[in-house]
Parts: sequence; structure tokens; C-alpha cells
Amino acid sequence: MAKKASASNLQKPGSRKREARPSQPAAGGRHAAPARKSPSSRPWSAAEIADAFSRFAKANPEPKGELEHINPYTLLVAVVLSAQATDAGVNKATRALFAAADTPEKMAALGEERLRDFIKTIGLYRTKAKNVITLSEQLIARHGGQVPRTREALEALPGVGRKTANVVLNIAFGEPTLAVDTHVFRVANRTGLAPGKTPLEVELALERVIPERFKHHAHHWLILHGRYICLARKPSCARCLIVDLCRWPDKSV
Ligand code: SF4
Repeated sequence: MAKKASASNLQKPGSRKREARPSQPAAGGRHAAPARKSPSSRPWSAAEIADAFSRFAKANPEPKGELEHINPYTLLVAVVLSAQATDAGVNKATRALFAAADTPEKMAALGEERLRDFIKTIGLYRTKAKNVITLSEQLIARHGGQVPRTREALEALPGVGRKTANVVLNIAFGEPTLAVDTHVFRVANRTGLAPGKTPLEVELALERVIPERFKHHAHHWLILHGRYICLARKPSCARCLIVDLCRWPDKSV
């Protein structure tokens, strides 16, 4: 049965309505503008950062991603399919797909045409189908049908960029990687926690400032915070756990 990452342990999400999001930013980083105004230049202190993540941890000790998967391979496929699509839209398509093909061997046997039928409700499905089949063939040929555990090997697969590799390393293998999607990018910039002009800049800044003990879950906390509280257009500052720490000059309570 597919692991359904529950949203029930979010930090008081309130509304389940979700904005559309590009979960796999294009090369060069097409992201929502971080904020109308620049956050205060006063950087966060180490104590403030530890305080913020302690609050996230207390509210949601075991945060989960929302892409359904069965094993590292299906997680990898789901993340590849999630580019420019919502997790809910991907989950809708992958339930039937993963029942039919949950290993690279089964996916390769399924073939590109039948795969396209399973995922045709997802944007860019033709390119994604091609990538998933090639990726599956490469896993069989080069990695014994297993998902590799290194960033270099993951990023060598078609359709897999740095963000996808970070998600797989974090969720499938427990590495303390920080995947920067549009939500993390916005929250890091808007709050002033880890400002950066590109996803890579933000990732490296987050890596520098987040204490080790919080790194494994940090990307989930920040994604969920951005998805349900610190919304792109109208952040719910009144429900925000870190409102007193946030540097955004437009925050409203
Ligand atoms: S106070 Fe408002 S802008 Fe700042 S992190 Fe919270 S929700 Fe986002």
C-alpha cells in the first residue's frame, strides 16, 4: 500500500486549499518573488534560529512529504513527475501507476506509451514519460535496479536535478539535505532567515545557519510553512509560529 504522507501533522494548517506551485524549479530558478519589500537587514541570531526550529519541531515532530510512494524508486519517479505540478495531482496519477509498476524493471516493461496514459493528467507528461523510462533503464543498467545514494549518481539520471536529488536523499535515505522549492525559497527570503537570489544560494545559506539537529526535517518544516501559512500572496501571519522572529516588514497580525 502506498505511503500516504499525511497532512494531519502540519502546524495548524487551517485551510487545505493549496496554491499551484512549480515544485521543480527550472534551471536558473523561476520562483515567486520573495517579497514586495526587502526584509530587515538585521540577520537572525543563532539563538533565534534555534528558537524558530524548536517551535516547528514542537508543533510537528515528524513532518512528512506529501508525495505518495512505496519505495525509493517510486519516490524518485513521483518527484520527477512533480515538476510544474501539485503533489495532489501527481498522487492521483501515481496510485494506479505504482500499482502496475513499482520497480524500474516493471516500468521499463510497461513502456513509454502506456506510461503516458497513466500520467496524461500531469503537465509535461510526454517529456516526463520519456525521462522516467530512460531513468528506469539506466537504473537497471548502471545501478542494479536500485536508486543510487549519491547526489552525483542521482543528478546523472534524466529529469533529475539538484532539488529532486535532495528530496530523494532526504526522504529515502535520511540525509540532512535541504531541497529548495518555491515555498522554501520564498520563506527563506521573506523572513530574512537565509536570503539568496537563486535556489542554490538559499540552499547553501540554509545549510550554514540551520543547526545540525534540525537539518533532517528542516526542508519539510519550511515547505509546509510556505504551503499552508506563509502563502505567496497573502501570508497568514496571525497563525504564524515565528511571527515575532520574522523580518518581513509587511507582516500583519
Ligand atoms: S510572519 Fe507572516 S511573512 Fe513572516 S513567516 Fe510568518 S506568515 Fe510569513
